[in-house]
Amino acid sequence: MDTERLRQYLEYYRDLGIQTLYRQPSAPGVAAAASEAGPAEQAERLAAPAAAVPAELPPLAPPGETLAQIREDIGDCHRCRLCEARTNIVFGVGNEQAQLVFVGEGPGQDEDEKGIPFVGRAGQLLTQMIEGTARKEGIDLKRADVYICNVVKCRPPGNRTPEADEMEICGQFLYRQLNAIHPKAIVALGGTAARALTGHKEGVTKMRGKWFQWRDIPVMVTYHPSYLLRAYNQAAKREAWEDLKKVLHAVYD
Ligand code: URA
Repeated sequence: MDTERLRQYLEYYRDLGIQTLYRQPSAPGVAAAASEAGPAEQAERLAAPAAAVPAELPPLAPPGETLAQIREDIGDCHRCRLCEARTNIVFGVGNEQAQLVFVGEGPGQDEDEKGIPFVGRAGQLLTQMIEGTARKEGIDLKRADVYICNVVKCRPPGNRTPEADEMEICGQFLYRQLNAIHPKAIVALGGTAARALTGHKEGVTKMRGKWFQWRDIPVMVTYHPSYLLRAYNQAAKREAWEDLKKVLHAVYD
C-alpha cells in the first residue's frame, strides 16, 4: 500500500474514533504476503489484534462518490438499533455543492415523520438564524444554499442522545457526506456534533465560538437550536448569532 492510501485509511479510522492501531510483529513470509494483499486486507493486518479494533473495519469511502451513492449505500439501514423505531431515514437536505454544512445531532419527531432534517421548531429557528444573520450582514444566503444533516440518520427513541456505537456506525456516512460536499466550513450544532467532528470532549459552552478542524475543513462549534429555544437562553442566543456571523464572513466574504 502506498503511503498516501495508508494515510487516508488512518485518517478515516481516526474519524471513526479508532485511536490506536497495533502493528502485528511480522512473521517470516508475512511481509511478502502483505505486499500481494489488497489495501483492505493490509489495513486489517495493520490493525490487528482484533481485540483492539472492531472485527470488521469499515471500507474506505470510494473517491469521488456522490451523495446519491452514499444514500443508496445506506439503503434500508439495519446497522444499529435506531432502525427499530424510525419512520424515515433522515439523510440530509440542501445544496450538494454547498460551501457551508450544518451538522446536528439526530432527527426529532418532525424530522422522522418527514424524512428531512431540521423541519420542526429547532429547524425553523435554524432557518431564521441562517437567513436572518446573512441578511443583516449583507450576505445573500438562503437555507437552500447550505447543506444540513445530522450525526445519526434515525431518530433516537424519546430524542435521547445517540450512543457511542450508534454514532460510530452512522458517523461513517456523515464523514462520507462531508467528503463528497467538501465545504469551506462546517458548523457543529451542539455537543454531539462537536464531539463527532472534533473528537474534543469539553462541553459546548467551552468550545463554542472557536474554530476546530475536521480533516482539512474548519469547524465552528455553536449551540444547538433546541437549546436556544428555551426562553432563558437569551445570552446563548446572542452568542450563537455571533458564532454564525463569524462563519458567514469566513465563508462568503
Ligand atoms: N435536532 C437535530 O439535531 N437534528 C434535527 O434534524 C432536528 C432536531
